[in-house]
Amino acid sequence: MDRRVGPKTAKKLAKLGVNTVRDLLYLQPRRLQTWAELSALENLNEGEEVTFIAQVTDAQMRSLRNRPGAMFTAHLYDGAIELTATFFARHQAILNFHARNLVPGNHYMFSGKLSQYRGKWQLTHPEYDTAEGLSESELAARAARPALIYPQSAGLPSWVTAKAIRTILDTLKPEDVPEVLPEDFRKAQGWDTTFTALHKLHQPETIEEYRWAQKRLAFDEALITQTALAQARQGYQAQTAHPLTEDPKGLLTQIESALPFELTDSQKQVNQQIAQDLAKSHPMQRLLQGDVGSGKTIVAVLALARALAHGYQGALLAPTEVLATQHYLGLLKQFPGLIAPASLTSRTAPVELLLLTGSLSAKDKRQALAILASGKPVLVIGTHALLSEHVQIPNLALLVVDEQHRFGVKQREILREKTEHVPHLLVMTATPIPRTVAMTLFGDLEVSILGARPRPGEEITTYLVPADKPAWMARLWTRTAEEVHNGAHVYIVCPRISEDEKEPETGSVSTADAPQNQTKAPKVATRKATPSAPAEEKRKIVLTSAEGLYQKLQQEPALQGIKLALLHGRQSPAEKAQIMDDFKSGKTPVLISTTVIEVGVDDPEATLMIIMDAQQYGLSALHQLRGRVGRGSRPGTCLAVYQETQGDDALTRLQALAESNDGFYLAEKDLEIRREGDVLGEGQAGRGSSLKFISVLKDLDTIKRARSLADHLVSEDPELVEHPDLKAAIDSALAAEQQENLLRS
Ligand code: ADP
Ligand code: MG
Repeated sequence: MDRRVGPKTAKKLAKLGVNTVRDLLYLQPRRLQTWAELSALENLNEGEEVTFIAQVTDAQMRSLRNRPGAMFTAHLYDGAIELTATFFARHQAILNFHARNLVPGNHYMFSGKLSQYRGKWQLTHPEYDTAEGLSESELAARAARPALIYPQSAGLPSWVTAKAIRTILDTLKPEDVPEVLPEDFRKAQGWDTTFTALHKLHQPETIEEYRWAQKRLAFDEALITQTALAQARQGYQAQTAHPLTEDPKGLLTQIESALPFELTDSQKQVNQQIAQDLAKSHPMQRLLQGDVGSGKTIVAVLALARALAHGYQGALLAPTEVLATQHYLGLLKQFPGLIAPASLTSRTAPVELLLLTGSLSAKDKRQALAILASGKPVLVIGTHALLSEHVQIPNLALLVVDEQHRFGVKQREILREKTEHVPHLLVMTATPIPRTVAMTLFGDLEVSILGARPRPGEEITTYLVPADKPAWMARLWTRTAEEVHNGAHVYIVCPRISEDEKEPETGSVSTADAPQNQTKAPKVATRKATPSAPAEEKRKIVLTSAEGLYQKLQQEPALQGIKLALLHGRQSPAEKAQIMDDFKSGKTPVLISTTVIEVGVDDPEATLMIIMDAQQYGLSALHQLRGRVGRGSRPGTCLAVYQETQGDDALTRLQALAESNDGFYLAEKDLEIRREGDVLGEGQAGRGSSLKFISVLKDLDTIKRARSLADHLVSEDPELVEHPDLKAAIDSALAAEQQENLLRS
């Protein structure tokens, strides 16, 4: 790279994640700018869109007088008329970008809407591009062609990137660019090569050419992912699993009749789908999506019981110890006589249960491992500790992964090594994934959907509470007291444990947001074309800590006589379990906690969820949190306390939350709010690294066509011997995924 574009530019590009010549060639322009025809600034009209060449004669940065913020003004002269280009921002640091780009003495092409300010012509936030050293006719040609705006960063304006790309394209030969599309397919479509597409992406003569290039490259991407997934699907078909047919011991019937409720039609239907998969002799690969509270647990338990009834082992993998413990204790409590703790020497119940988490005492752990390794038909519930090397589960026939997206190819391999047969796999998630996303990211899984909540009509009402309104804030605590006096329980969630912490608590869960997305302060800075937000902006976001609020609420008059508890990830699992118990039993009806409670925690008496600093969470995390209440016979309320932060999407997210209880709607909304790149960039199972041009929201059609081509290719030529470029592209995409997973784990 250094040699091709120069070391200085290379270094700046690296900050945008562009490290290789290939990265640069496949760099997606952020947007397309069409210049108007070059206009002479003669008869100026207010409101008119103009494009013109002018010299920057002078420039100033200053603070705004009447409100917080800064302003950068460049004085322009086109040879006849003087005017200004003005940029506003909340912080000067954001404007430094323009100050660095617009150098007095140099010429630029500007485009924008004319306005008047104090009798002078002005453009506010105009587009601009360098015109330095270009002839009149070159400039006219430039203005006629669409201009591409690349992601920019400090000291790296779009035109520098454009120039670097041009340098590379100029020496690029057709044979340098791999062609993943099969030749005959490409010809049948009448499509040009990827080589041509790259040229048209970066140097389009018309908008249509640019659009075409994007579609062409999107198809390449879709084909690479879909072929990888098709190979995976075919791989499962070739593996053998234990077929789990009927219910030989009537165990499922026993469990069902012990339930205090009827299964919903939707639950029955999903059970049916799972039963059909399990009856086959190759491994089930199924994703169960069901909104928070839709009743996935019992579906999992019934499937797992089927494995046990056939004399095999079953495992339920939970994302946190709190959840694993809750599942374990919950099952023991719900099915006395039917489910009991496992013993090495005797048979304790029709379903014998084991808990395996990292924090078991050495003795308990040894015991649990011994039981598992003996091959005894037990149901083991655990965290990722289950996947560690020394855990032997020789007769594992079914693994259920609860509330966890990141269960990739690699983890499946680890599991496969634990048993001779490949276990059936059921992945459960409460975060609804739109169909296109599911097809892209989980295309190797069949999808089941669990419909409406078992007890409809008990919607959760959500209110947004501005933190700077003292009266509203006071109402939070009187409302809390009211709920408690009515015998209900209240959650108060804070983004971090203690005041002095810089980073919010993470590692609790994964939802549609990558975990690294959901609890962090809004990542405004990295998503915008503007350079990183200054440090002081981040510091201004006042953070509510669980410990701090716990202290403060002890003094709160409205809460006198009410027992409060504190829960966070630094406590030992035993402590956490005790605290959860006391909360559920009503001993401490108010729980101040971090997001350790986000996923799956089930307390039917909880009616009020207060989320502090709600602007810090992703939409699906918020929806998850809210889903902790209204799970019993009483309706739930969610109060989302927020502080206005600048220029990010937090408020849009919160409004969406208040507007709807529908997890699917929110997931779509979330995708809209977050830019595509964020969806696939670092979130969602880490398969994003190779996806730049595919829009998982809009390209359903492309994805479908790529999928059917992929199926065809893989069925004809499973190892892709005839398609070496495609094979190589898949290998490098998988290697990137592997690497991402490694970096994360
Ligand atoms: P999630 O899908 O979020 O994991 P759970 O499995 O925890 O949901 O179920 C939420 C609550 O609904 C639990 O208290 C569970 O016992 C209850 N539940 C599950 N299925 C039904 C049903 N068919 N009728 C009534 N309540 C149910
Ligand atoms: Mg659950």
